[in-house]
Amino acid sequence: MKATRSFSVRPRLPPALAPLDDLAMNLRWSWDKPTRDLFRHIDPDVWEEGHHDPIGMLGSVRYERLVELEANTDFIARLSEASHALQHSLEQDRWFQTRGPSPLRQVAYFSPEFGIAEALPQYSGGLGVLAGDHLKAACDLGVPLVGVGLFYRHGYFRQSLNADGWQQERYPALDPFAMAIQPVPDVRIEVNLAGTPLFARLWRADVGRIRLYLLDSDVDENHPDQRMVTDRLYGGDTEHRLRQEILLGIGGIRALESAGENPQIFHTNEGHAGFLGLERIRRLIHDHGLTFPEALEAVRAASIFTTHTPVPAGIDRFPRPLIERYFTEYAASCGIGFDELWALGRRPGNHEPDPESEETFNMAYMGLHLACRSNGVSRLHGEVSRSMFSPLWPSVPEEEVPIGSITNGVHTATWVFPEMSDLLNRTLAPGWSQDHYTEWANLGDVPDHELWRVREQGREHLVTFARAHLRTSLAARGASLSDARWSDEALDPHTLTICFARRFATYKRANLLLSQPERLRSLLCSTDRPVQFVFAGKAHPADDLGKEMIRQIVMFSADPDIRDRFVFLDDYDISLARMLYQGADVWLNNPRRPLEACGTSGMKAALNGGLNCSVLDGWWDECFNGENGWAISSVEDVEDLARRDQIEADSLFAILEQQVVPLFYDRGDDQVPHEWVHRVKASLCSLGPYVTAGRMVQDYVQELYEPTAAHADAMAASSFAPACDLVQWKDRVIGAWKDVHIDTVDVTPATELGQTATVEAVVALGALRSGDVAVQLLHGPVGQGDEIAEVVTLDMAEAGSFDAQHRSYRGSFTCMRAGRYGFTVRIVPKHPHLVTPIEMGLIAWG
Ligand SMILES: *Cc1c(COP(=O)(O)O)cnc(C)c1O
Repeated sequence: MKATRSFSVRPRLPPALAPLDDLAMNLRWSWDKPTRDLFRHIDPDVWEEGHHDPIGMLGSVRYERLVELEANTDFIARLSEASHALQHSLEQDRWFQTRGPSPLRQVAYFSPEFGIAEALPQYSGGLGVLAGDHLKAACDLGVPLVGVGLFYRHGYFRQSLNADGWQQERYPALDPFAMAIQPVPDVRIEVNLAGTPLFARLWRADVGRIRLYLLDSDVDENHPDQRMVTDRLYGGDTEHRLRQEILLGIGGIRALESAGENPQIFHTNEGHAGFLGLERIRRLIHDHGLTFPEALEAVRAASIFTTHTPVPAGIDRFPRPLIERYFTEYAASCGIGFDELWALGRRPGNHEPDPESEETFNMAYMGLHLACRSNGVSRLHGEVSRSMFSPLWPSVPEEEVPIGSITNGVHTATWVFPEMSDLLNRTLAPGWSQDHYTEWANLGDVPDHELWRVREQGREHLVTFARAHLRTSLAARGASLSDARWSDEALDPHTLTICFARRFATYKRANLLLSQPERLRSLLCSTDRPVQFVFAGKAHPADDLGKEMIRQIVMFSADPDIRDRFVFLDDYDISLARMLYQGADVWLNNPRRPLEACGTSGMKAALNGGLNCSVLDGWWDECFNGENGWAISSVEDVEDLARRDQIEADSLFAILEQQVVPLFYDRGDDQVPHEWVHRVKASLCSLGPYVTAGRMVQDYVQELYEPTAAHADAMAASSFAPACDLVQWKDRVIGAWKDVHIDTVDVTPATELGQTATVEAVVALGALRSGDVAVQLLHGPVGQGDEIAEVVTLDMAEAGSFDAQHRSYRGSFTCMRAGRYGFTVRIVPKHPHLVTPIEMGLIAWG
């Protein structure tokens, strides 16, 4: 019989164990080793079987065991210590508090997914795990930040395989009352979905000192259809996604207010939450009487947008009829027509059809329109983004498109395995993960055999784990005990281990190795220098090509000759990923460049002493230095994809055959591969200080959060008067710009090294004043085609009025290199509240 209603009963702990409850309810346990050890100690089997879930474990552990623990003075002492440590960690001053006054009061960080722990499965892959790591590092650093997301009743799917190797998806229902989240009392969020109200309740997860709010539409007041809005992560059709994004963005702003939060600035992690900007505009119009353009300026000043995709197809887009249905009334409530709202998701120049998208509302365009600071997630991705989004700034040179980059990082305490962490704590100063000044070079002094021993331990852990995992999966696929027996001997703890794990998106080419099966076989089956591979990853449920890649790998691994050294582990998630990072000697990544925006799995492998073998894409493009891993060739100029794949596979095999395998098996008398260990040290020393989420969040604070906070405050002063002035000023400048031009440019060139060249320009400004513009001189040595390779920009000084309409400007520069120099002059708008002079897209060239 199915119950019509149900409720959950939380376990009651004996009084002496009561602090376990607080420890379980704060997700800090997910990266704090003493707390994890404490939970594991309660019942190691239940801990493993229950997927590392403290709350589930406290609910299912036998009462006698609890009574036993209550009497165990050692356990009680550890419990009290962990409990004090939690309390202390919530109150203590951290990096942010100790570095002097900051304009930053609070950031609200919006993301469609958060990957914090396996026990809170609200993520699908890199984007979510990154968001989780962002919160954890913000906690470590004491950055005032709150997170906003959705609570998906079925999370993402659990993966298994059928006998043919085809991915099967299960969506077990999660019970929020049995998870490390708690309801925010007396809060009901309401948003309007095309005329029907949608209600949501609000959950709060505590990630150390960071509060994460999750909206959940599964409440009694909603019609059954409406309850399903937050059913699954990335499930359903376009309209379903739009409904989720309306709840996340618009509902998220309302949720923050209901929860008593008062964020000063807003960070949108990818376009999905973009409607938050609209809701803030609507608020300013209603609460402060601003016009739409004024509110837009104020909102932009307080917004940061991070883009995560290097391909137009990866961007969320919605067809016009859908946006009309959901936003016509909303536009009216902002005092604008629908077309004005529609324009936020469009690029300028409507007469010119967008080749990528027929009449769709592009969430990344809206993100860029509604944020005055934007970034990609690696240096290369910044470049790709400037190119991809350059149509939004048609007259701006591509390299000046106002999108910067902050390279992603990973949360060390979450991802580094205990033995490695101990070694780093011993060698570097404790706190190494948050400190820029850590002497990573000290790792050079660690005896090779000591580091090698830790690597061997990591590999052994993986092998033990993989055997048990395979046994369970085989049983689930119907294998008999004897059929599954081989899994007890699967993988070898001393064999070179190469791992590949990530979402099975086609551009990541998980099956690249399979394109040359004989070459792969000889690597696997070598008698003296064998290689073993471990694969894992989920394909999106709608992505049959991705599932086909999984099937190919599983079918290849079914061969009894190689199944013990080429394995696919199903149901990839945070806990499985962690095992792979600690066991991998080599972390393999072979995407089609430049389609990997950043990639973070290789960073996690590197911090555990693995070596990256990767195409120079995403983060690896800026971090590979010739000795900290390997670079697989990428031949982007070969247009025939099959041909390109073949060339790149050849490169990969050559690296494995000629470099990786020989280096790994080149052992000294002590059986230690010294040259290999030296590479591991080179990898740790070069990457350790850079690839951490601590570095990433510090960069966000210093480069984006603080400038944005100061800017937002300035624009909000005196009831938003500066925002209103800026609108008027922009109108005036746009209206007058047609009369702005450069009349003449004269140069007194330099003829010898070290001499100064002087440039004089006569310009007409029409109705504008000289304070409204900057006349810029861009100069530098020129190469072929008179391209200035490294442009230096300086503002020229006003050198007098020429006549009533004309003014002259002068600038000079010293030529420090022999050879040809070039320069150009241009006029751009200038105002203290512009983040960059080219953001308006107005440039008059000489
Ligand atoms: C790190 C991580 C990812 C991201 O992997 P990429 O390198 O970006 O492909 C995805 N899923 C999980 C579980 C991870 O831990």
